[in-house]
Amino acid sequence: MSVVSIVRLQSRDVEAAVRKAVSLTDGFENVAWEGAKVLIKPNTVLPAKTGTGIVTDERVVEAVTKLVLERHPKKVVVGEGSSVGYDFRETWNSMHCMEIAGVTEVAKRLGVEVVDLNRDEQVEVNVPDAFVMERFAIAKTALEADVIISLPVIKTHIRTGITCGLKNMKGVLPGNEKKRTHKLGLDRGIVDLNRVAKPTFTIVDGIVGVQGAWGSQAEAADRVPLGLIFAGSDVVAVDAVCAAAAGFDVREILHVQLAAEANLGICDMDLIEVRGERIDDVRQPFIPFLQAAKDLYGGAKVIEKDSCTGCMGETVSTFIYLNKAGFHEKLPDLTLIMGTPEEIPPLKEKPVVLGRCAKEYRDRGIFVPGCPPHGLKITDAVCQALEIDQDIVHRAIAELHSFSADYKERRDVA
Ligand code: SF4
Repeated sequence: MSVVSIVRLQSRDVEAAVRKAVSLTDGFENVAWEGAKVLIKPNTVLPAKTGTGIVTDERVVEAVTKLVLERHPKKVVVGEGSSVGYDFRETWNSMHCMEIAGVTEVAKRLGVEVVDLNRDEQVEVNVPDAFVMERFAIAKTALEADVIISLPVIKTHIRTGITCGLKNMKGVLPGNEKKRTHKLGLDRGIVDLNRVAKPTFTIVDGIVGVQGAWGSQAEAADRVPLGLIFAGSDVVAVDAVCAAAAGFDVREILHVQLAAEANLGICDMDLIEVRGERIDDVRQPFIPFLQAAKDLYGGAKVIEKDSCTGCMGETVSTFIYLNKAGFHEKLPDLTLIMGTPEEIPPLKEKPVVLGRCAKEYRDRGIFVPGCPPHGLKITDAVCQALEIDQDIVHRAIAELHSFSADYKERRDVA
């Protein structure tokens, strides 16, 4: 049996909920803290503020860091490697993402170092019995950590259904390896990564989840206020319980099933003891990504093969912007090409061709270079293809992003 706790927030007291969730599992008592190097791994995959559900709530990071410091390990660091779309040396990178999410301030207050895992020294590892990633590079800080405390959030995902504890570990991979997981098969790549960097303990920020086809930011309608903290030492069981709480059938979440198959944990709900709240009492069904995407894409055609979250995520944002700007009825005239499709059928309209992977088709339409291409540049190219006024779309973007001016400036530079 694996044990997973679910605790409901009382009076917005996040620290009390985190402490209770951990204590209900007994898991922290079994961790070898003495002399340990500890990595606390939040999810700050992109620049978003605390409370949005996109990134780990700063209060969860603070509560967990305090709990860890109380165990007096040798060293504690907070580390993250942001996604490929937010990993540029001069502009957006993991340090900016952690700063915007409030993680840096928490770490500073508690005297803990912050590490950009994308810029960390990289170490090659071999993975016997790997599904797809037999050898890959990983951040040295993660590989050498004796204890990894993972702090994921619960979000829908275009490829993997949900993203939670197992997928949160992707932050310890450098950018080129992150991309490779998409090419080789994301579900299997996540499992191979966890064979090397499995969290010792997972504490899920379930205060706010994110549902549907959300883009680089989540609007109010995308947020699901669960008001929960989940915890457990078996990340597979934690993911299974979180999937169930979000209304998914865990038998349909491939990477969680494969992780159990690889003996990384248990996902059979009959073999998981849930302590605290009951799943049936807390369940709030999330809108699946692909279901929401049908409405969002409004009949636009996407020709793709093996494209990763970089291109996919940026594209979703473009659709959000166009819908917000009132151009939904134009979308059936749009075709996007990304990834490595084997062939492109004859098209009536001029497509928008996205990113380095698809550059062999650059002459077929309007090409947006980059890996990933910049979201604003994709949006501008789509405006050009659909002959719509860019200024109207830019105003919609400015309304959506409270930090839009800074965002545009940084992405233009990147
Ligand atoms: S070009 Fe796009 S699909 Fe290809 S690796 Fe880069 S971000 Fe991913």
